[in-house]
Amino acid sequence: MLLLGHTGITVTINKSIEKRLGFRWSYWQVILLSIFPDIMDKFVGRFLFSQYFANGRLFAHTIVFLVIVGFAALISWARCRRAEAFGIMIIFFFHQLMDKMWLYPETWVWPAYGWGFPHKATDWWGGIWQILISAPYVYWSEIIGACLLLYYAVCSHWRQDHGK
Ligand SMILES: [Zn+2]
Repeated sequence: MLLLGHTGITVTINKSIEKRLGFRWSYWQVILLSIFPDIMDKFVGRFLFSQYFANGRLFAHTIVFLVIVGFAALISWARCRRAEAFGIMIIFFFHQLMDKMWLYPETWVWPAYGWGFPHKATDWWGGIWQILISAPYVYWSEIIGACLLLYYAVCSHWRQDHGK
């Protein structure tokens, strides 16, 4: 899944997470969290060490990463009764689901298949454009995500204008 799908759908999911866990984030915080695994992994695997990794899905797309964030959530709950880290873990979990990480077990259950990550195509931008126009899952999730973001943008402005 790409940018609009991740952000729009995660903002929607977060509405019920925050209500249940009892905190409130801004839209920008949720948008940033929804794409954090891509920001982190693409920065490392496609920018900093692109020759070595040649892959934009690394540590932040693994179950190990979710477990580490889960431990941090448990510690923050035990020490100060704050549930935000659980919210972060849930958002990262949905990010991995939306990326269908079970189709990439060498990354998802890393390091079960070895310490390295698989190498991907070097023409990353070309690949993105190709799946955007040819993969229904990708273009439909982008359309749905864009509609959701538009809805929340209009809704939050409407609420501000009308003092609600
Ligand atoms: Zn991702």
